[in-house]
Amino acid sequence: MRCPQCLHDDTRVLDTRTPDEQSVKRRRQCAACGFRFSTMERPVREEIFVQKRSGRVEEFDRQKITASVQCALKKGAGRRAEVDALVDEIIAALFVGRPKLLTSEQIGDEVLRRLHKFDELAYVRYLSVHRTFENLGEFQKKIALEAKTDGDVV
Ligand SMILES: [Zn+2]
Repeated sequence: MRCPQCLHDDTRVLDTRTPDEQSVKRRRQCAACGFRFSTMERPVREEIFVQKRSGRVEEFDRQKITASVQCALKKGAGRRAEVDALVDEIIAALFVGRPKLLTSEQIGDEVLRRLHKFDELAYVRYLSVHRTFENLGEFQKKIALEAKTDGDVV
């Protein structure tokens, strides 16, 4: 962190606080001129939109993914942490490359890919709800291909 006073490159952290769960405040001192200042770190909420098959665009909503995964898993609140972890993985994969717009198809594919590894029955349930039979053959080919290449990816 550069000193705002003399632009020296090296500042020392004197104190770190977390004013709330989402932010970190640091009190810093410049190693060259002694100037003291604070920095605040908090996650930037990127706006990501989703294009539905109908062409309609809406804001990305984690809750919708969680709901569809939960529905496919047919599991109670006891496995909430597991579902959350799975949704975290799905979202992390979707957000690679920081897209501004995702299609509902991309999201569906990612959910299926994770469910396939996680719970075979849930995978079939999700597939039956979110896919038409025309897409089924194509997707099964895709999964079969991925199963083959899985060994190569470390
Ligand atoms: Zn300075």
